[in-house]
Amino acid sequence: MNKAIGIDLGGTYIKYGLVDNKGSIIKKGMLPTNAESRKRDIVIEQMSIAIKDVWEDNIDGIGIGTPGIVDNNGVVYESPNLPDWHNLNLKEIFEKKFNKKVVVENDANSIAWGEFLFGAGRGTSTIVCLTLGTGLGGGVVINGRLLRGACYSAAEIGHMPVNYKGRKCGCGSTGCIEAYVGRDYIVKSIVRKIKKGRKTIVSEMVDNNLLKITPKIISEAYQKGDKLAEETWIEMATALGAFLAGIVNLLNPDRIILAGGIAQAGEILFETIRKTIKQRAMDVLAKSVEIVPAGLGVNAGIISGASLVFQK
Ligand SMILES: [Zn+2]
Repeated sequence: MNKAIGIDLGGTYIKYGLVDNKGSIIKKGMLPTNAESRKRDIVIEQMSIAIKDVWEDNIDGIGIGTPGIVDNNGVVYESPNLPDWHNLNLKEIFEKKFNKKVVVENDANSIAWGEFLFGAGRGTSTIVCLTLGTGLGGGVVINGRLLRGACYSAAEIGHMPVNYKGRKCGCGSTGCIEAYVGRDYIVKSIVRKIKKGRKTIVSEMVDNNLLKITPKIISEAYQKGDKLAEETWIEMATALGAFLAGIVNLLNPDRIILAGGIAQAGEILFETIRKTIKQRAMDVLAKSVEIVPAGLGVNAGIISGASLVFQK
């Protein structure tokens, strides 16, 4: 059986594992990234320790999902959470060190490919995979191939403007979808309503310290039947659904896969998105698309990293 090592490089932890060509983890581990050292060599050394920890001589290669923009030569540009992670040829560094094929991909693209090969995208040809968290990340597989674009940076889905006069986004532009469905937006939206006097059990759940509100708490409040929490999710999911109706019209995907912490808000999120797409996208396209949760679970980054090696 073919095997590969998958590396999920995050700002805080490096998650890694040995994965077979069916997408099952054989062994895995986790190490601190040591990004606070602000030295890229220290982070690279941590990655090397990770690789050696699950090493087997007969692996097909090493797949790395990293934050930042990655080109087809495996060079990383612009990664906000990692020190000095710029103009860095990760592919070359690790190919030299380990004498194996190395594939480097932006982390959101990596997850999209992993879901396509081993997760909720299996058996399809075109998917859009969204990671809902602090921001809105995304990757697109079209006709069985990862969409990369002219300079390998396609699918920055979170930064598609939905309101050209809209609110300020972290990327410097205005009105990006991320500024309407990202973590901060969801929290700010409910805080604003609480300050206007709306009653909700969320206030008690955080001992009236509104700074402690998280999407997870809003989800818990919703599960307990809280009206304002429900309204918050419906509002967010309607915005996301309207946006996705545009994506459906553009790409005609088989499936849209929702990954990330916020996607765990559950059925209310999925139902509202489905309903909104049905109302807003072209009929034929809306009927054929499925909106599903991600399939790879907590080890998605590791499995996806390895899946890069199994690309044709
Ligand atoms: Zn933006």
